[in-house]
Formats: sequence, structure tokens, C-alpha cells
Amino acid sequence: MLKCSRQRLAAVTRHASSYGMGMGVGAVRLFSISASRKVDFTHAVIGGGVVGLAVARALAERAATASLSSAAPASSSSVLLLERHNEVGTETSSRNSEVIHGGLYYGADSLKTQLCIRGRQMLYAFCEQYGVAHRRTGKWIVAQTPGQLEALERVHTFAQKYRGGRLSLEDDEVLPLRWVSPEEAKRREPAVRAEAGVLESLSTGIVDSHGLMQTLLGLFEQAGGVLAAGSPVVKITPLGNGDTPGSSGWQLHVKPEGDAEETVVTAETIVNAAGLGAAAVHNMISQNDVSPMKLYYAKGNYFSYAASQPRVTTLVYPAPEPGLAGLGTHLTLDLAGRIRFGPDVEWVDDPTDLAVNAAQLPRAIEAIKTYLPSVDPSALQPDYAGMRPKLLPAGAVVTGQRFADFIVRSEPGYQGWVNLLGIESPGLTSSLAIGEMVEKLVYCS
Ligand SMILES: Cc1cc2nc3c(=O)[nH]c(=O)nc-3n(C[C@H](O)[C@H](O)[C@H](O)COP(=O)(O)OP(=O)(O)OC[C@H]3O[C@@H](n4cnc5c(N)ncnc54)[C@H](O)[C@@H]3O)c2cc1C
Repeated sequence: MLKCSRQRLAAVTRHASSYGMGMGVGAVRLFSISASRKVDFTHAVIGGGVVGLAVARALAERAATASLSSAAPASSSSVLLLERHNEVGTETSSRNSEVIHGGLYYGADSLKTQLCIRGRQMLYAFCEQYGVAHRRTGKWIVAQTPGQLEALERVHTFAQKYRGGRLSLEDDEVLPLRWVSPEEAKRREPAVRAEAGVLESLSTGIVDSHGLMQTLLGLFEQAGGVLAAGSPVVKITPLGNGDTPGSSGWQLHVKPEGDAEETVVTAETIVNAAGLGAAAVHNMISQNDVSPMKLYYAKGNYFSYAASQPRVTTLVYPAPEPGLAGLGTHLTLDLAGRIRFGPDVEWVDDPTDLAVNAAQLPRAIEAIKTYLPSVDPSALQPDYAGMRPKLLPAGAVVTGQRFADFIVRSEPGYQGWVNLLGIESPGLTSSLAIGEMVEKLVYCS
């Protein structure tokens, strides 16, 4: 795993200055909003999860392409990716179901739907191009009651009517779904119980999230991007000389754990892709806000399955329930074909509380038995947990009356600050599309 110590960050900053980037001397600006600013980097991305990596790679490749096409000197360190841990991708991006989602549940106009569909298409193409392990498994959504069947019918109707929102996509590629007859269901997955119906999502799959992130990191560095791992951002100051905050760039203070000194680095634009830390990063900037940004945390516990029976080869999800903060305890497969169950939903106060709560197991078994009656409870073991960064608290989600979309925006009132908040599921599927969207926001294209 590639690392960049605080020393390396300082060295890179000096290197950038010696190329004229920091001094504005002969510096060739690579994107449209640049003026003659005195900064170390053109872009700083905070957070090296799958989303930060996708954003950083998109910005670095844009900079590299611009520099090639304008015959300008290559600006090898124009994008800086700051990650607080010593390795990228150790938080939510490595604690999820690794499912490439269809994009069925979030409403026509939502960013979640649009970025999920676009991201899914980009992700399959990316995996094929760069050899990232993945499989189009398909997914069954199963109904046991007439009420649950109605929920499936609503999903089906949504998929049939949806034509890509603001995206211009081929109809067939948008949300391919089909009903599975009882005979076919029995033949294909005899162990799965579906009393009232089965809806199959044909575009759903699974991906090796670590392989994806390593590939993104490689492409980012190949395009001249610089990773500063072990580099928690602790303070951010917009520079503006009385103009719009950020119009003269941004100052980021990095303070590694222990005795290491604080390093200060400057950038023209910043992207907050800090996941569970995104509210804290936001509040470092908007210190004068009366209501600071707050995130709420919903842990998802997973349980591994050690038995070889029953055998299942498709992902199996219960019918969606309004007000549930997740998609229900479902059955997913890893790329080796091993079954795992989860995630459930457990609201917690501490985002670092990632111990699997074994007390949740009886409830998980109850949920699993509804669609897999022959499951052997003695073969279920606590496995791992992930943490959802929620924009709404438990009560608001449970009533199901409010929907929290992804926030991906240029912050009004500032120049050069793109903020990503509440990037829960389907953030992994959406990551490449979020990278594309942030690139457009930054370059106003
Ligand atoms: C239980 C669960 C299951 C899920 N299943 C799926 C799924 O099957 N399919 C799907 O598409 N999505 C799924 N998701 C969602 C997906 O995992 C996330 O949306 C995605 O991983 C978010 O990536 P990220 O880069 O935004 O966040 P993260 O992976 O959390 O990365 C943020 C990074 O920022 C760093 N950071 C934070 N603060 C600072 C700071 N001050 N300075 C420097 N660095 C900082 C962190 O260390 C971290 O590495 C699931 C999520 C959960 C919780």
C-alpha cells in the first residue's frame, strides 16, 4: 500500500513551489477558474475512501490531459489527496456489502438514483477495462405477503417509467427488471422462500471494493496525483482578502498523530470527501454557522455463514420497507461465492463503534428465516460492521416521511469548495459518477 508521510507531504509542497506552482511564477493554470493564485496545489481532496479516490483520480486525469493538450509543463503534483489513516479505504469503503446496485429505491429526481445508475454503468466498464474483479450476479427481491408484493410492484412500476432523469441513457440499460415465475424460482433457487413473488434486478452485481480502490489509487498517481496518507486535516481556512472566502485559495492544516509537527498546505479548491468525518471537516470551515452540520450514525452488523447448505447463487433481498434505514438484512455473496448476511440497522452515537453487536443475531436469524427457512443458525457468526453517515436522525428516518439525498454541491458563499455529505449506500456504486460530477462542478463544465 502506498503511503506518504508528513515529511513527504512537506517535500511535495517544496517540489510544487520549485515548479512555480506555489509562487505563481510561470505557473500554467490548468483549469478554467484559476487565476494567478499562490498555492501549492490546484486541488486538495480530503478523504481517501472510494469516493475521494474517484474524485481525486478524475481531477488528476483532467489536469494531466489539460497539461498534455496545452503543451504546458506537466504539473505533476496538482492534485493532493489527504487521508487521515496510513492507508486509503479503511473506513466505510471497506465495510459494506460490495454490491453494485441497480438504483431502484430512491425516487426519480434524487441524486442517489441518478448517480447510482450512471455510476453502475461506469463501474462495470471500469472493471472490465482495468481487470477489477466483479460479477453480474443479479438480485432477487422477494415478497412473502400481499403487502410486500405491492412494494415490489411499486418498484417495478418505478423502473418501467424511469427514463434516466436528467441522464440520457438507453431505456433498456436504465433499470432492467423482470418477474420470476414460481416455477423458475423453485428451479433456480430451491432454498429461497418467496410466497408472494420475486422481482429480479438484472443489472445488480458485486465488486472487489479493495481492488477497485487500489486501481483508482494507481490511476491517480499515474496521472501525477499525490497521496498524503497519515495526514488528518484539523483546520481549514478560506483565503480571500476581503473577497469571497476561498477566492484566493484554501489553507489546510494537517496534524499527524503523536508528536509530529503540523504542516500547512494550500490549494485553489478543496473537496470534502471525508465520509464519517465530513461534518467535522464542514464545521472546520463554517465556524460561524449558527447550526453546525451534524451526522447521525446507523451501524450495520454482518454475520458470516460457515455451512455449505443451503446453497444460493443470487443475491436475495427482502421487500423494501418504508422507514427502514437500510435495505433489510439481506443475503449477499462475495466473489468466492461465500454467503454473508446483513447489514441490519443499529443507531449508535459513536461512529467508531464498529464492534459487531452479537446481541443483534437473534433478530437477524428471524429476518433471514423469512426468505431462507433452512438456514442453519448455528453456522452464523458475527463478522464485521459498517457505519452509515446519516443526514437525518433515527426518528425522521423511521417515520419514512423525509428522504435524505446525497449532498454533492459547490458550497454557496464560497469559491472553490465542493462538499460531499451523507454519502451512504449506494455510494460505492455511485463513486465514479460522483467523481465525474465533482470534476464538472470544479471546472464549471
Ligand atoms: C453497512 C453498509 C453497507 C453498504 N453497502 C453498500 C453496497 O453494497 N453498495 C454500495 O454502493 N454502497 C454501499 N454502502 C455505501 C458505501 O460503502 C459508501 O457510500 C462509500 O464507501 C462511501 O465512501 P467515502 O469515500 O465517501 O467514505 P469513506 O470510505 O468513509 O472514506 C472517507 C475517508 O475520509 C477520511 N477522513 C475523514 N476525516 C478526515 C480528515 N479530517 N482528514 C483526512 N481524512 C479524513 C477517512 O479516514 C476515510 O478514509 C454501504 C455502506 C454501509 C455502511
